[in-house]
Amino acid sequence: MTALGVGILGLGNVGAGTVRLLGERRERIEARLGVAPTIRRILVRDRERERAVEVAPELLTTDIDEVLGDPEIAIVVELMGGVEPARSYILAALRAGKHVVTANKAVLAERGAEIFAEAARVGRAVVFEGSVAGGIPLLRSLREGLASDRITGLCGIVNGTSNYILDAMTRTGAGFADALAGAQAAGYAEADPSLDVGGGDAAHKLALLALVAFGVQVDPGTIATEGISHVTAFDIRAAAELGFVIKSLAIGQRDEHGVGLRVHPTLVPRDHVLAGVQGAFNAVLVQSDALGPSLYYGRGAGMMPTAVAVVSDILEVARDILAGLYSRPGPSGHVPSTTSKPVSLRPLAEVVCAHYLRFRAPHVPGVLGRVAACLGRHGVSIRRMAQETPSADGSAAMVMLTEPVADGSLAAALVEAALPVTRLRLLAE
Ligand code: NAP
Repeated sequence: MTALGVGILGLGNVGAGTVRLLGERRERIEARLGVAPTIRRILVRDRERERAVEVAPELLTTDIDEVLGDPEIAIVVELMGGVEPARSYILAALRAGKHVVTANKAVLAERGAEIFAEAARVGRAVVFEGSVAGGIPLLRSLREGLASDRITGLCGIVNGTSNYILDAMTRTGAGFADALAGAQAAGYAEADPSLDVGGGDAAHKLALLALVAFGVQVDPGTIATEGISHVTAFDIRAAAELGFVIKSLAIGQRDEHGVGLRVHPTLVPRDHVLAGVQGAFNAVLVQSDALGPSLYYGRGAGMMPTAVAVVSDILEVARDILAGLYSRPGPSGHVPSTTSKPVSLRPLAEVVCAHYLRFRAPHVPGVLGRVAACLGRHGVSIRRMAQETPSADGSAAMVMLTEPVADGSLAAALVEAALPVTRLRLLAE
């Protein structure tokens, strides 16, 4: 009988959900596969800690070698998070002949090249559905459902915390700080929210999406990334008056000139499908040549949603083991084919889109003319303009919408205008 033992690294949120699903759905899994994967070891830091799921105490270990050295364990499921020791344990598992399932976007985005190269060398799978958009079967849809298609673009909400905050600001009129505090109180934001609200988490996920959708290995540090903390209640209101909702989007585009990736708050037309994504939900809109647009929507995080993705990966690997896939030479189809070196992304300066500009200026004749002249000199046309009633100090907040313009041209115009301007990009039409 083929060994279908599973070793789990980490018994936190996702680990507990995975253990629970594997137990509760055992009969159903057995009916589909003929045999159900069996958990043989669970690595934790602290064996005495209370867990969200009941496990036999003898399954818990603090020694990674008890997982790596067990010949009955065919699949190692890494659910610890972070880059180290996750990276070392994943590499050691592959070298010990194990397949790897992980939901850890950080380790794959930062060290994926090394991990995928090792998996290819030893002929083992690394699957990672839970690492992007939680429970939504997004990567599998891109990898399998669109296998014969050519994906040209994707654009979506992949960080539930940022969406929760912007949605709360939109619904209640709250400022960023109050909405963040509300998200923390409701358990949707970490005590240190910087990776989420700074856009870093979305950049990690976008790097993995680019790997699966476009087949390119990207250093997430090279993705143009802008967080949401500078978006004000005024911006949300002004955008709404202009017919837009502000969302933090991860955007990837591929054309004959290369691949462009960016994460930033974006003005989305009110009637666009992404505008209605509320709370901590995720949604990704994919554009491909043959299918056209397709939308993937659901819970992007949480114990049970993410566990669904992890268990689906375990079952996929188990099915391939039972089918003898790994005893034959040739690609397994799990590891994306990538160039060995990270690709250079198209610079943000080349991206052409319309912009929202907000600035405060003295309410005196000539100021607007000077700003408009600066913009004009750099080829930036103004589509709409609105001005608040001047405040007691005589200054007034101005909002402008530009026509589509290269990011770099607008940046040069704003430097010349020498005014502190907040600018947000519009979703390309
Ligand atoms: P978590 O609740 O913090 O759990 C982490 C677990 O890993 C804990 O059980 C911890 O053990 C164990 N662990 C950490 N470092 C370890 C080490 N050096 N040696 C042994 N055990 C170690 O994390 P989580 O929320 O489940 O997330 C797990 C992974 O899933 C992360 O990569 C995360 O990004 C990803 N993910 C999470 C979600 C979500 O909704 N939570 C969604 C998508 C993806 P102790 O309990 O003994 O401390």
